[in-house]
Amino acid sequence: MTPFDPFNTDPFFLDVQKNFEEVAHRIGCDKNIIRRLRLPERTFMVTVPFRRDNGQVETVMGFRIQHNDSLGPYKGGMRYNPHVNLGEVAALAMTMTWKCAVVGLPLGGAKGGVCVDPTVLSRAELQRLTRRYTFVGPNTDIPAPDLGTNAQVMAWFMDTYSQHKGHAVPGVVTGKPLEIGGTLGRVEAPGRGVAYCVLKAAEKLGMTLDEKMRVVIQGMGQVGAAAFRKLEKLGCSVIAVSDVHGGVFNPKGLAYDSVNQYLEEHKTLKGYPHGDFISNEDLLTLDCEVLIPAAIERVIHEKNVSKLKCRILAEAANGPVTRDAAHILNDTDIFVIPDILANAGGVIVSYFEWVQDLQSFFWNEKEINQRLWDIMTQSFDQVTNLAQKEKFDMRTAAMALAIRKLEKAMLTRGLYP
Ligand code: NAD
Repeated sequence: MTPFDPFNTDPFFLDVQKNFEEVAHRIGCDKNIIRRLRLPERTFMVTVPFRRDNGQVETVMGFRIQHNDSLGPYKGGMRYNPHVNLGEVAALAMTMTWKCAVVGLPLGGAKGGVCVDPTVLSRAELQRLTRRYTFVGPNTDIPAPDLGTNAQVMAWFMDTYSQHKGHAVPGVVTGKPLEIGGTLGRVEAPGRGVAYCVLKAAEKLGMTLDEKMRVVIQGMGQVGAAAFRKLEKLGCSVIAVSDVHGGVFNPKGLAYDSVNQYLEEHKTLKGYPHGDFISNEDLLTLDCEVLIPAAIERVIHEKNVSKLKCRILAEAANGPVTRDAAHILNDTDIFVIPDILANAGGVIVSYFEWVQDLQSFFWNEKEINQRLWDIMTQSFDQVTNLAQKEKFDMRTAAMALAIRKLEKAMLTRGLYP
């Protein structure tokens, strides 16, 4: 029986689904589990009315997709973007399930999105929209910021839910501001986790983190900027970085503080005086030791993958490499740190935030970073050991580890009734 699949028009979803099926069959996963995991458990599609400042009521489309909660409550970001579609959200929800499983978190996978351009909304409009869209719970489904949303949006989510409950419920979302139950270290966590993975990969390949370790980063957002800062601290030389409008390249190295200050002042890297302008396409094929795509999905594809000149590819963005390109990469000597491992630092510290909220007991930054290091490096070792033992590429090994954990949990729980 082939169930109706409303997501299969999206190439990103098809890639994520096929990757899963390929690895699941390869490791002999139970056929019933494969059929269950290839589609999300629940899909909410809502139309959200909200009042514009001019009095008009606008209606936008919103989704929340809950892929699997065998290991714990659903967890996943909420994006506000005019191009959000059902397939993309389903692909990201599935990816969250694998990500939580591979690093051993007691959480499931979900993702949400609203088809709206937040940059054209006033603060008041954004607030009214967010309060109409809130339909989650601390024990069932815990959102976090993603593209187009931030700590303030999470604060409105938390407040709306708390108003309905009659008391403060900080654990309903993560990525909140510190003063209402947010955690230290959350903003830097995904970028920091990427840097920890690069450090471990370098160690494995016998490379040292010094100025000869040339790093190229696509995307100077929350993830890319934190990776830049941490890798610079670790002694690497970041030679190129970009944002949506293009990047800046200096073979002698760029300084984080200077680039960041320029970006804050000018809102673009164009005209940055200590380097040459470079397009996002050319940046990806620069000669370097470490390439970090930290912007959007599917930027490395069949047409440019053979031009990559890096030794380590750390997938900081979700799904930056298409399925075809991933197969080609397997025949190169590029060491790939797949997205579900490389960028898991974000959800790990979100998990820390949720735990702290539930206990109303908060940790200091040193404790948070130490625990992040422990989980990231243990997970990295588990994936590389499995890859070595079973002669898997890193992407297959990470997926295999995640699928085996889920399979065990699902078979142990059994099918209800
Ligand atoms: P962000 O919005 O803070 O930054 C994105 C960056 O990418 C910006 O510099 C932007 O200018 C640039 N960009 C946007 N479109 C681009 C394009 N077409 N080409 C090149 N650059 C482009 O986002 P973020 O939070 O840093 O997330 C980046 C990626 O990491 C996304 O794939 C996201 O899903 C993933 N991720 C984020 C987190 C998190 O906690 N923030 C955690 C895990 C994974």
